[in-house]
Amino acid sequence: MIPVARPVIGREEIEAVSEVLESGMLAAGKAVSRFEDEFSGHLGVGDAVATSSGTTALFAALWSLDLPAGTRVITTPFTFVASANAILYCGHVPVFCDIDPGSFNISPSSLSKLLRKSRNSAGALIVVHLYGQPCRMDLIMDMAREHGLKVIEDCAQSHGAAWRGKSAGTFGDIGVFSFYPTKNMTTGEGGMVVTDNPSLAEKIRMFINHGSSSRYRHEFLGHNFRMTDVAASIGLVQLGRLGGFNDARRQNARVLDGILGAVPGVKTPYVHPDARHVYHQYTIRCRWRDQLAEYLSRQGIGTGIHYPLPVHKQPLYKKMGYGRLHLPQAERACKEVLSLPVHPSLSESQLHYIGRKVAEFYEEKDISGHYNP
Ligand SMILES: *Cc1c(COP(=O)(O)O)cnc(C)c1O
Repeated sequence: MIPVARPVIGREEIEAVSEVLESGMLAAGKAVSRFEDEFSGHLGVGDAVATSSGTTALFAALWSLDLPAGTRVITTPFTFVASANAILYCGHVPVFCDIDPGSFNISPSSLSKLLRKSRNSAGALIVVHLYGQPCRMDLIMDMAREHGLKVIEDCAQSHGAAWRGKSAGTFGDIGVFSFYPTKNMTTGEGGMVVTDNPSLAEKIRMFINHGSSSRYRHEFLGHNFRMTDVAASIGLVQLGRLGGFNDARRQNARVLDGILGAVPGVKTPYVHPDARHVYHQYTIRCRWRDQLAEYLSRQGIGTGIHYPLPVHKQPLYKKMGYGRLHLPQAERACKEVLSLPVHPSLSESQLHYIGRKVAEFYEEKDISGHYNP
């Protein structure tokens, strides 16, 4: 089976972990500090704080903005549920904005309409650079400034992505990363918060460490959301390899584009000319999506549906009253998207096999003309 995602772990990662294990110092220590320094250096931001996951990083980031309870926070419904759950953890109110059908990211025109409708009532915005493609951050930051919104960038899928040459995670007040094993780089479980605001960084650092300012002195209610040195030692090696991983993902995407561009029934990923896309996922829109997934599975090709339900239709959110909300682009995308393998360990022949099998499925369906949703 060709898996839809696969972490690339080599000797270097194994040796780095062994070194930490042999040192006897497993929890947050030197490796975490080094990882934070190298990560912030890599992005060119002032501060980075490592956490136990992308989810806890999002929670810490939004919490640090110190918004009044019940603040309306705008985000996309077409994302992993953690992006929106962070809003609930903080006692705020998620407000969902529909997506752009091309990029699958939050739609600047829908955002503009939403902001005009709810003038000055939203306090923050969490954007998600979905599948590895940055949102249109010039338009979005202009709107955020005009309406006084704080901005958090969920970069869980966009390590190394850029908009007009500027790194994803460096536009808003805070950027948040995840190092789950399926992401562009991993630490097993782990996350990172980045910011140019030193007082936010300090608050976040305390929040993830029981509100502690110095040993056994607790200023406020915090949590244990720390990363371990074991995880950070993997992250240090992976950060060094990230550029190569992303080059391989982009190259793999080009191969798939080349084959699938000519297949009726399939719409290959749209990439904005100003975006550096790092293909966390290679996600097509397609006809007969579930049948195609089933067919590919029988041919030994793993696929993923990111995501089968928009956040506002999740049972949790339906119970909270979001069920009646209608966001047509997000809802339609959930029915049409399919992620194909694009990870760095695929061989050229595996990529051609994947492309050929997708083409074969539509040949058997014998449909004519391109699919233009
Ligand atoms: C993976 C992911 C998260 C959560 O990260 P974890 O490390 O799994 O907690 C948040 N947002 C998005 C968009 C993600 O893809």
